[in-house]
Amino acid sequence: MIVYDLKCAKDHVFEAWFRDSAAFDQQAKAGKVVCPECGSKKVAKAPMAPNVARVQSPSSSEQRQQAQQAVAMLRQMREQVEKNCDYVGEKFAEEARKIHYGETKARNIYGETSKEQAEELVEEGVEFGVVPWLPRTDA
Ligand SMILES: [Zn+2]
Repeated sequence: MIVYDLKCAKDHVFEAWFRDSAAFDQQAKAGKVVCPECGSKKVAKAPMAPNVARVQSPSSSEQRQQAQQAVAMLRQMREQVEKNCDYVGEKFAEEARKIHYGETKARNIYGETSKEQAEELVEEGVEFGVVPWLPRTDA
């Protein structure tokens, strides 16, 4: 389906749907396309509102690009973390605390923690960062 902005001989502009552009040509020639305001059969395609199209497409592609960049950045961050930190899994809070209190050797770790555990760590003054973790394959 295709939507056209149509204009009659009296400058009434209206929208109409057609199966395709050939269908419009056919129906217009057969006098089946009628202005809903004045009933005129002299109807032609009005220029599409170009401002709308011009404004929308670049900004949406820009947004897409920004999203892609953000995803790429998070992927990189994840790679860095995986390369440079020990994975401690669900023991993250426990290990982070041990490091904080000097009970184990200081090192970079990463793992999972619950929101509650993270809040406890914050209260105890244990430093850590929250990384938005993306799945490795994100197709
Ligand atoms: Zn009209």
